[in-house]
Amino acid sequence: MNFDYTDEQIMFRNMAREFAQREIAPVTTEDDRGGHFRREIIEKMGALGLCGAPIPREYGGLGTDYITYTLICEEIARVSASVFTTITVHVSTFQIAILLWGNEEQKRKYLPKATTGEMIGCFGLTEPNIGSDAANMETTARKDGKEWALDGNKMWITNGGVAGLAIVAAQTDKAKRHRGITSFLVEKGTPGFSSKDIENKLGLHACNTAELILQNCRVPEESILGQVGDGFKVMMSTLDCGRVSIASGSVGVAQASIDAATKYAQERIQFGKPIASFQLVQEMLVDMIVETEAARFLVHHAAFLKDKGEPFTREASIAKVFASDVAQRSAMKAIKVHGGYGYSGEYPVERYYRDAMAMVLYEGTTEIQKLVIGRETLGISAVS
Ligand SMILES: Cc1cc2nc3c(=O)[nH]c(=O)nc-3n(C[C@H](O)[C@H](O)[C@H](O)COP(=O)(O)OP(=O)(O)OC[C@H]3O[C@@H](n4cnc5c(N)ncnc54)[C@H](O)[C@@H]3O)c2cc1C
Repeated sequence: MNFDYTDEQIMFRNMAREFAQREIAPVTTEDDRGGHFRREIIEKMGALGLCGAPIPREYGGLGTDYITYTLICEEIARVSASVFTTITVHVSTFQIAILLWGNEEQKRKYLPKATTGEMIGCFGLTEPNIGSDAANMETTARKDGKEWALDGNKMWITNGGVAGLAIVAAQTDKAKRHRGITSFLVEKGTPGFSSKDIENKLGLHACNTAELILQNCRVPEESILGQVGDGFKVMMSTLDCGRVSIASGSVGVAQASIDAATKYAQERIQFGKPIASFQLVQEMLVDMIVETEAARFLVHHAAFLKDKGEPFTREASIAKVFASDVAQRSAMKAIKVHGGYGYSGEYPVERYYRDAMAMVLYEGTTEIQKLVIGRETLGISAVS
């Protein structure tokens, strides 16, 4: 076992750290308050290769291992969970789905535009009436000559309003339940395909979230990702990768909470001393540090298994359950260390808390991750 990062991993982590400090940090508060999605940040990340780090070089990516990619995610989330969320969906769910399931033509057509940030992607699984129970989705696709006609709505779709291409899962044979689901690539501008931004979210204000609306949206046969009936496998295999990434973003938010709380504790004077000198304040900081270090190891373990080509579904869910909870707990403790000021917009810790809340929900809630871990451990099938 080797716990050292490689030179390449350190280089890309530092590159992401410097980029986040230089390009994202100066506008994070402004964009959070204004609910402003800043496309140019994604384009600049694309120019550095940070929009497709784990994608092979032949498709425009950096061809890094997954551990490197988690380090990049952590650094971006440490500064902005909104930018991180845009990137994790664009890379670990959207691009990885095409990489794992797309044919050569689809990979060559879409991945180079995605890795450079020229085109943003989204991943549409959740619906207004169906979230955790994805196998029961209501969106349908009906074969009509050489085309498929899609009808339905997808809810809470990250990047949905800014994406040039959407992966959309639909029922093509309802009687077969999860075996009757197919994934489609739907380009922006396709007649019958539109989106509506979701406003007033608790957090992630600088990240676009939208509802996708499909009304007799006609796509050609070549739009199918994988084979007819593969859709559920496409979505679930991709979510394994996404969950490792969400866990790394959670570590980023937890680390940001430690950074902010440590600085404040050293500066704030009460009873004539910095509050950092009080052992009960130190305890809060130490709890955050211990849990965040543990979460980081879980993330790296899941990424390590993925890099080795071994099964990592269980470890991805373990990392996501723990790291997202740690992000929430750390952000909450950071608010407590800040006292009343932590409750105001004067310090970033209230944003960390609002943003961390999304991490326990998206790409499968904590309860669903626990079901996955239980099933994987007991050898029980997810769907019958
Ligand atoms: C900011 C944000 C971004 C998102 N981005 C995307 C995206 O890009 N693409 C996408 O497809 N979706 C996205 N989602 C949707 C997200 O994945 C779903 O919200 C999540 O899967 C839960 O589904 P739901 O909201 O319908 O809740 P429900 O499934 O209705 O669950 C409600 C509650 O019931 C619990 N529950 C449900 N079933 C069980 C069970 N069997 N056992 C125990 N507890 C259960 C859940 O854990 C939860 O606490 C996003 C959501 C948010 C908030």
